[in-house]
Amino acid sequence: MALRKATGRGGRLVTALMAGWGVVATLGWLGSGASEAEASPSCAGLRRELDDVRSALTRSEALLKTLGQKLRRVASGHIRAVETALAGTGLDIDRLAGGTAPGAAGGPFIADGSLPSEVLRWERLRRSVRSLPVAAPLADYEIASGFGHRIDPFNRRRALHSGIDLMAPLKAPVLATAPGRVVYAGRNGGYGRMVEIEHAPGIRTRYAHLATIRVRVGQRIAVGKPIGTLGSSGRSTAPHLHYEVVVDGLPRDPERFMAAGRMLVRRR
Ligand SMILES: [Zn+2]
Repeated sequence: MALRKATGRGGRLVTALMAGWGVVATLGWLGSGASEAEASPSCAGLRRELDDVRSALTRSEALLKTLGQKLRRVASGHIRAVETALAGTGLDIDRLAGGTAPGAAGGPFIADGSLPSEVLRWERLRRSVRSLPVAAPLADYEIASGFGHRIDPFNRRRALHSGIDLMAPLKAPVLATAPGRVVYAGRNGGYGRMVEIEHAPGIRTRYAHLATIRVRVGQRIAVGKPIGTLGSSGRSTAPHLHYEVVVDGLPRDPERFMAAGRMLVRRR
């Protein structure tokens, strides 16, 4: 939810500018028919009206140019801020900005070709960012163990810790960190009771050692909704949540995603 608010403000500004752009562009199109009527001016009144239309057109063209520059500036600023926030995650910004055209998912109708490319890029990026797991999976927690190489608590050998361990009270609600679809819900070896959610193609999160599971495979889930409760099932020494972010099959550091989420929220 916080992320929706974070990207919402920038989105509303760009949407308002896009609406203005659409109106002015339509005026320009309507005015372009004036030259046909000019071919047979039969009275001075008609000529005056044509002059009025011409000067209105000149004004609308100037307004269109100003709006275009403003749109470009605002969109570029938003893109830079998102790029900065996501820099630590290692995500490919170009891939995130390469989604479907903004018109396909609602919003003002404007032909793609008439909009500055920065605005289209921002619209796509904004929609993609909303499906990234940048929220925290618990309302309150302490990080007991970070991502990366560590000494395994069971066999004391050096091993890759593919997620982070978060401490919170037993049975604390575990929350989805982005909207998505449940792709796994059940026991999974050392993970114990585990839920896995797909948020976007190639982007998934895993919530392990749960005490209970409240979702089923195929279910769509909103960000911040409980998917189960914190427990100690599977290969676990004490109640905690083992949380993973997986991109294209490879584990990434969830703390970097959560840090990105905090940066995006601060932009409200
Ligand atoms: Zn762990």
